[in-house]
Amino acid sequence: MKVLVINCGSSSLKYQVLEMETESLLCKGLVERIGIEGSVLKHEKTGMDKYKLEVPMKDHKEAIGHVLETLIHETHGVASCMDEIGAVGHRVVHAGEKYASSVRITDDVILALQDCVSLAPLHNPPNLLGIAACQELMPDTPMVGVFDTAFHQTMPAESYIYAIPYEYYTKYGVRRYGFHGTSHRYVSERAAAMLGKKVSETKVITCHLGNGASITAIDGGKVIDTSMGFTPLEGLVMGTRCGDIDPAIIDFICKKEGLTISEVNNILNKKSGVLGISGVSSDFRDIEEAALKGNERAELALKVYANKVKFYIGAYMAELNGADAVVFTAGLGENGILMRRMICSDMENLGLVLCPKRNEVKGQEKVISTDESPVRILLIPTNEELMIAKDTYEIINK
Ligand code: ADP
Repeated sequence: MKVLVINCGSSSLKYQVLEMETESLLCKGLVERIGIEGSVLKHEKTGMDKYKLEVPMKDHKEAIGHVLETLIHETHGVASCMDEIGAVGHRVVHAGEKYASSVRITDDVILALQDCVSLAPLHNPPNLLGIAACQELMPDTPMVGVFDTAFHQTMPAESYIYAIPYEYYTKYGVRRYGFHGTSHRYVSERAAAMLGKKVSETKVITCHLGNGASITAIDGGKVIDTSMGFTPLEGLVMGTRCGDIDPAIIDFICKKEGLTISEVNNILNKKSGVLGISGVSSDFRDIEEAALKGNERAELALKVYANKVKFYIGAYMAELNGADAVVFTAGLGENGILMRRMICSDMENLGLVLCPKRNEVKGQEKVISTDESPVRILLIPTNEELMIAKDTYEIINK
């Protein structure tokens, strides 16, 4: 069966088609500038040159219409007709406390996801637009929702309850939800496979270090804590997000700079993180380059970032009472040789011994700790799309 995976953003969408019998990627693509002048679809069939389509796409329905046409394109297509696409898996950011795993999309599911819009006002609406567009264009094709928050629903209350008046949780659902769940789940399952252990007998700490970054403590396949919170702003330092700060800073900056809470919130999301500290960029390649040339703030940004990851690894080691492995994944986790070295330095007493030579690698599944390291350090490229496609395939075939 061929499964189409869709990840809809506000003005962009990413897609992949996978052949599930072999779990192989048939094609992938990206539509950008949906509803904006200059809409473009970039498509890549595995093993072929890229194909580009520049036509106006005023909304998600038009964009998905062009994606579907491309999927049956004479030369760049991967199916002879749309009926060959057996199911669609949709990435959805927030399912609140409603879903702890992926589900087949029904009218009730859509209502539940609409209820979560206030929790993820930037993400759930475009996710829902993508589902609606697919349902209109492929009315007979089953669809599955795969949620970023779902994997974290196993967290115990002591991990997800904030120390604020309890009624904010009961009235408004203010609690830790956690994000990047599909990625943490994928790499934790791969980690168990690499260790030759059952997921149910494995303790891992997974570090998803991309533009957004989060770290998760997983015991026997169940999340016991994660660093992102009510929103993706909490936890690690990120490209442009501040991560953990003293909440009193918000009121202080509002008064000093004459800004509203929303304006400061925007600064904490878009102008903070390593960009805010370095003043150089949110991209670690630029920051590393600047640091190498002697830019002290760039060097400081790298140190603050590494220190925060280290801090959480230590915290999660304590919460898990020791771990079998620490996993690095996503853009920086997979490619950031220097950053992995900075994070893992001086952790021998916690059981982490990075092998500098093995660490000289990018984007490959590999053990990068020494043979003697009590805790394995693993590099595992994430594959959220494969996880979404597998869930979709399984649920449809149940
Ligand atoms: P997203 O969260 O947008 O999916 P990615 O997982 O693609 O992000 O990660 C993007 C981050 O990965 C960027 O900060 C980028 O600097 C970092 N990155 C990518 N390649 C490298 C590299 N070779 N060295 C260091 N950092 C890298």
